[in-house]
Amino acid sequence: MTISSKNNTKQIYFAAVGDVHGHMNKFVSVLENWEKSNKKSLKFVLQVGDFEPHRNESDLSSMAAPSKYRDLGDFNLYYSGKKQFPWPVFFIGGNHEPYGYLDSEPSGFELVKNCHYMGRAEMIAFAGLSIAGLSGIYSEHKFNIARPAPSKINKTSNKEYIYFNESEVEKLADCKSVDILLLHEWPSDIISTKDAAEFENQRRSMRYDSIGNEYAKMLVDILNPKLVLCGHMHKKYQNSIQLESGSKSDIVCLASIHQGDDVFEVFSSSKNTISRL
Ligand SMILES: [Zn+2]
Repeated sequence: MTISSKNNTKQIYFAAVGDVHGHMNKFVSVLENWEKSNKKSLKFVLQVGDFEPHRNESDLSSMAAPSKYRDLGDFNLYYSGKKQFPWPVFFIGGNHEPYGYLDSEPSGFELVKNCHYMGRAEMIAFAGLSIAGLSGIYSEHKFNIARPAPSKINKTSNKEYIYFNESEVEKLADCKSVDILLLHEWPSDIISTKDAAEFENQRRSMRYDSIGNEYAKMLVDILNPKLVLCGHMHKKYQNSIQLESGSKSDIVCLASIHQGDDVFEVFSSSKNTISRL
């Protein structure tokens, strides 16, 4: 997927948003409220997966999720043109997505005006920044095998489509000069021991050092991004980690749309620097 815009040396603001789970109206309003109260405009928005852009029941049926989590959401208002996204939104896939729809273009596409799926493993250039994204989560058992073709989506388990694989990690590892890396699942080894207590008895994991996957961490080490954004755990967490190269990456993990303002973070960028507001 190639989206380019001119290099921008003047200061811009962009937001990063955690799991939206189909609640597009809430996603838009939380950011519009930030713009209003801060009297600033966002240039674009990055979203870290579990976006759930379902057009209809058929899309919803291609999502891997227990039935109590199957909710059509309000993307159809945007798809039908009744509502518009106010800024360009770029999202990766999580583990709850209509992959029957998204995998129709695995290298990414614009679903409706201003709403871009970044694909399974792609890099884009926008507003002078290079942004790479890896869709899906890790499974030891699925990492080395090819995913079934999109045409098989209703003939096999939806779960077959929620994992990234080795070739996608290798493809991203070859990217150069990545400013921002979008991941759904957290990389391993990003939590400081001083924060360990925060992670006890949390969703999906008990121990802070068992959270995340080593391939995402490997990508962080290889790509040296200034900023890494993650979702999935429905927990806000920020850290700055030392990489094998000696440089540092800021890691910002975002909460879900049901957790108030912890779902987003705003950054400013100018002249090749990115900082949290
Ligand atoms: Zn989620």
